[in-house]
This record gives sequence, structure tokens and C-alpha cells, in this order.
Amino acid sequence: MTKRIAILGGGESGVGTAVLAKERGLEVFVSDSGVIADKYKGLLEEWSIPYEEGKHSEDRILNADEVMKSPGIPEKAPIVKKIRSMKIPIISELEFAYRYTNAKIVGITGSNGKTTTTALTYALLKNAGLNVGMAGNVGLSFAYMVATDPKDVYVLEISSFQLDDIKEFKCDVAVLLNITPDHLDRYEYEMSNYVKSKFKIVNKHSQDDVFIYCADDEETMNYMKQNAKQIPSVLMPISVFNKLEQGGWADEEKVHVHYKDTEEFDMLIQDIGIKGKHNLYNSMAAGIVGKTFGLRKENIRQTFEVFKSLEHRLENVLKLNGIEYINDSKATNVNSTWYALESIQKPVVLILGGVDKGNDYSILSELVKKKVKAIVCLGKDNNKLHEAFQDKVDVMVNVESMKDAVNMSTRLAAKGDVVLLSPACASFDLFQNYEDRGKQFKQCVKDV
Ligand code: ADP
Repeated sequence: MTKRIAILGGGESGVGTAVLAKERGLEVFVSDSGVIADKYKGLLEEWSIPYEEGKHSEDRILNADEVMKSPGIPEKAPIVKKIRSMKIPIISELEFAYRYTNAKIVGITGSNGKTTTTALTYALLKNAGLNVGMAGNVGLSFAYMVATDPKDVYVLEISSFQLDDIKEFKCDVAVLLNITPDHLDRYEYEMSNYVKSKFKIVNKHSQDDVFIYCADDEETMNYMKQNAKQIPSVLMPISVFNKLEQGGWADEEKVHVHYKDTEEFDMLIQDIGIKGKHNLYNSMAAGIVGKTFGLRKENIRQTFEVFKSLEHRLENVLKLNGIEYINDSKATNVNSTWYALESIQKPVVLILGGVDKGNDYSILSELVKKKVKAIVCLGKDNNKLHEAFQDKVDVMVNVESMKDAVNMSTRLAAKGDVVLLSPACASFDLFQNYEDRGKQFKQCVKDV
């Protein structure tokens, strides 16, 4: 049994772990090399947990029996290297919290769609009357919930960083939505490292556990073919191209879910509240999870009807003078922008740009040619966008503020068009984060 745990990072997962450790009688110390937010300092003080900020005091860290490293701290940080060199075990928040709960765990990962699928799955299970909590990358940390509000079931949104230091942690139902290049800087620019880390979602799986994955996703399927033996789980693929015997699939009209020998669930696509092909995948994945918990078809149908898109994800803002404004600020990579364009059947004025994380815009070419009448580039450096799209659209304009972006888009749009903010880039050049960018967009649209 661990006696002393040192925690690196005083954010959501660090403080959650600290509270759980304290509650279970461990000696805890929290260390953050940056500034700890007031909210978290307040919690640490409330629980009488010692902490430091602005430094890592080795004498208070290296005497721990175990170290919890927050997912944002990279392996190359000197303190992490030191801990590794001294062979002090490093674990993640998921691993730590897992020791203190017997709840059923649904873990959802992927490059895109995690939050939407997590929220939809949570809504499904909650509406069906289960004692369920939602945690992880969205909202409260898993550890904090285990400490303060224990549940029978947790639906966890899990990023690949959070999977990095797990050992025994296991999801009873694991969902891997897709794998497209993102955050490669953390994986030595090796896609195979990133893929491998995503597949840790099936860590410790046996024949009793369920694995839901996308049969249309190339990286996923390549890995599955090469590593079939290591994945003993009940396999539940999802596809929008092929009819499947087990799992989820969609045809032109309906989505279908078939789990083991239970009755098939199907539903008209037009009746599902969240729109777009990407949301078919998200819905099928959530539907299969629902089936693993024995949910009735009516329960699933009702939630699918009423669940609406989350803020900043293909969110309908307003219709003004016949122009629809859609906020997809959360689209911080090319793949999500692809799905946004795919889901829209009207001419689009597209607001694109920001901090480029090494984007390959060529996958957008066809859709841009077909659907986009003008691009408004909202970023400090728009050169790459011009190179990629100047021969694909008639009009490209540079702007440097959201107000100008919205005003310009409104001028370029006509009745029956859509103004879509789906930037394919991170927001840090002109905004605090994607929420700030989306909120500014909505405000500017209201001011038009
Ligand atoms: P994440 O939590 O993984 O970032 P979100 O649910 O917040 O995912 O969605 C992020 C962006 O990706 C949004 O722009 C959304 O429209 C798009 N998206 C959602 N689901 C998928 C999916 N299954 N495949 C591709 N893109 C998706």
C-alpha cells in the first residue's frame, strides 16, 4: 500500500487525485512548476493538502512511494526524467482512481468526437435511470468523482495522454472512435506511437469486455489486423459503408445497432438530433454502449431524438436574412472541418485559420470545390491557407478579428447560404481558446 504520493500538476486531474488520496488516508504532496488556479488552491486548502507552485522541490517529490503525473506534463520534463531514473513508479490519475472503485467503466477515446460521444452516452444511461457519472477529460476528474460522488457507472472521456501511464486500469466497455494525426509532437512524430497509445483503451481486456471501434478508420483497422491476437474483447465495429452482423451500421435511411443476440435497434437518421456523418458514428457507438447495459430501444430512441449538439460543435447560432450561422469552433483539425462541410448541403462561406499544427489541407480540396463559395481567413499567418485553396474558391479574404470575419462573411453570403466557423486550426494566435473563439463568433453574429 502506498504511503506517500507526490502529484505533479495542480490542475483538474492533479487536484482530483490529491483529494482522493487524502480521503483514503495517504500522505499527499502536490507540486506544480506553473501557477495553480485559485479554484484548485481553494480545494487543496479545504482538504489540508500541502502544495507548492512555481517549482518542483526534489526533496519533497523524490521521497514518494509513487508519483502521479498529470497528463499535460511531458516525459522530457527534467523532474520526470529524474523520477524515472530513480525507478519511482509513475502512474496516471485514471490508474490511481481505478484502485478505489468497483464501478463499471465506459471509456471513450479517439482523435475526434470524444466529448460528443461521452455526453451522449452519459445522457442515454442517465435517462434510462442508471446511477451514472460523467468524468475524465470533460468536467470533473474521475478521481475527484470517486472521492466525492461515487457512482455505479462512469462514462469517461479519455485522451491519449491520459492512457500513457495506466497499468491495471480497464474499461469494461472501450470505445475508440477514430485515429487521425494530432498531437504528434508528443509521440516523437511517429504515427505508430500515437496509434499504439490509443489502443491502450483495451488495456487488460478479456472476453468479457466490449470493444467498440470504427471499421471505416484506416489506422484502426491496420492495427487491428496486425494485433488481432492481443485483443480478446467482444468486438463491436461501426461503419457507415458496410452492413455488419454485429455492432453498428448505417444505410441511406437508418442507423442500426446489433449487440450480441439482443433485438436490433434501428432509427431513421432524420430523427436523430445531432446531424452529420460523424455524428452517425458517435450515435452508433453510444447506442452499442446502451445495449451493453441492456437499455430498451425506446430509451435509446428518446435520448437520440432530444440530445442536441454541444456548444461549439456544429452549433446552430442564428438564421438572419436567410443566412444560417453555424459555430464549429471546436474543429481544431482538418478532419473535423471535413465532417462539418460534409454535413452541410448549402453553399458555404467558410471561416478558416488560426494556429496550424502541421495541417494537410488537401483532404478538404474536393469538399471546398464543391460547397465553399468564399473563404475568410482568420489568423495571423494565412499563407498556407492561400496556397492550399486559392485555386479552389473564387474569393479569399484575410481578417484579423472575429468582428471582421463575421461582417465580411455576411457580406459574401447570400440568402440560402451558410456561414460556417470551422477553423481546422487551434485558436491561440487571436483567442484564449476555442471556447473564447466560439463565444466571440456568436456575439458578433448577434451584433450583425
Ligand atoms: P473531441 O472531444 O474528441 O475533441 P468533440 O466531440 O468535442 O470531440 O468534437 C470535436 C470536433 O470534431 C467538432 O468540430 C465536431 O464537429 C467534430 N467531430 C465530432 N465527432 C466526430 C467524429 N466521429 N469524427 C470526426 N469529427 C468529429
